[in-house]
Amino acid sequence: RNINRCRKLTKSLQGSKEEVRLNKEFQKKLNELSKLTGYEKPKKISGSLKLDSNENFVIAKQFQLDLIDAAKKRCDIREYPLGGTEKLVSKLAKYLKVPSNTVGVGNGSDQILDLFLANFCTRKTRILTSDPTFAFFEERCKLYGVKITKVQFSEEMTLDVDQFLSKSKNADLIYIDSPNNPTGFQFSKNDIQKIIKKFNGPIIVDEAYGEFSDYSVVNLVRNNDNLIVIKTFSKAFGLAGLRLGYFVANKRFTDVFSRVIQYPYPLNSLAIEVGILALQRSKQVSSIFSLIKKERERVIRNLRSYDIFDVFDSKANYVLFDAKSSDSRVYNALAEQGISIRKLGKLGKHSGCLRVTIGTKEMNSKFLLAIRD
Ligand SMILES: *Cc1c(COP(=O)(O)O)cnc(C)c1O
Repeated sequence: RNINRCRKLTKSLQGSKEEVRLNKEFQKKLNELSKLTGYEKPKKISGSLKLDSNENFVIAKQFQLDLIDAAKKRCDIREYPLGGTEKLVSKLAKYLKVPSNTVGVGNGSDQILDLFLANFCTRKTRILTSDPTFAFFEERCKLYGVKITKVQFSEEMTLDVDQFLSKSKNADLIYIDSPNNPTGFQFSKNDIQKIIKKFNGPIIVDEAYGEFSDYSVVNLVRNNDNLIVIKTFSKAFGLAGLRLGYFVANKRFTDVFSRVIQYPYPLNSLAIEVGILALQRSKQVSSIFSLIKKERERVIRNLRSYDIFDVFDSKANYVLFDAKSSDSRVYNALAEQGISIRKLGKLGKHSGCLRVTIGTKEMNSKFLLAIRD
C-alpha cells in the first residue's frame, strides 16, 4: 500500500506546473551546454616522453618526493585545513615581496580564473584578449556566455600594443596570458605598462610562465588597482599535479575574493604544506629556470636549421613552430617514437602549428633527434 501511495505522490509531483517548468529550464541549459566541447586535454600516451603540457620535468622527481615526505609530517588529514591558506598566503607574500593582504590562492590558477568569470562577468561583459589565447580561459568564457574580442597575432606571432589597445574601447576587461600560451610571446614591460595606464577596466595578466620570461608585473599591482596578476606553482615549481595557484591584486578585491567568493577550504592540507616548503627551497628551483631558457634557445636554433619549419621566439618553457602541411606527419611520427607534443593546427596564417615543451637536456635531445629522423 505504501509503494502505491509513493507512486501516486510521484505522479502528482511530475504533473505539477512547477516541476515541468524547472525541467524545461534544466533541459534547455543542458542542451545548450551539451554543444560545448569543454577544454580539450592532451591524449594520455602511457610511457611517453611528455612534452605536451608545459610541465616542468627538469625539477627532479626526488625533489618533489622530499617535499611530500616533509609535508606529510606537518599535517593531520583528519582536520580541515583551518588557517592553512592564510599560512601559505603569508609565505607567498614574503616570496613575492608584496603585502599579504594582496595575495589570494586557488585550486590551480584555473580555478581562480573560473571564479573570476563566474562572479564578475555576465553575458553582457566583453573581454578583450589575443588570438590565440589560453584555451581553458576561452572555453570558460563560452561556458558562461561571456563575449570575447580577439586581436590576431601577427605572422611572426607577435602583438602590436597600439593595435591591441585600439580594440579596447568597447571592452570591459582585458585578459592576457603573458607569456602567451601557445605562442610564447610576451609584451615588453613598457607595453604592458601602457595597457595598464590606458585601460580603465580590470586587466588580468596571467603569468603562469612568468618565471621563464624576462620580467613580472607583480610589483605594479601596488600602484595599479585595476591589475590582477595570476600565477601558479604548476609550471615553475613542477607541481602541476598538486593544483596550487595564486594571484596578486588590490586589497579590496583580494579581501572579497578570499572571504566570500573562494571556497572555505580550496586547498588540501598536503598541498598547502608542500607549497610552503617549495617556497623555502625556491633558490634551488630558480637555477632550473636559466637551464630551461638555455635549452629553449637550443631547441629553437635546432628547429630553425630545417627551413621547412617556421619557428617562433618564446619567453616560456615551450616552443611553437609551424610544420605547415606536415604537422600531422610530424606529430604522428613523434608519437610512434613515444614522444608526445601538442598539435594545435591552424593559428592565423600558420596552418600546421605544433607546440613542444622544453624538458631536460636528454628529453630535448631525444625530441630533436626524432625530428631529424
Ligand atoms: C598552465 C596554465 C595555467 C594554469 O594552471 P594551473 O595548473 O591551473 O595553475 C594558467 N594559465 C596559463 C596560460 C597556462 O598555460
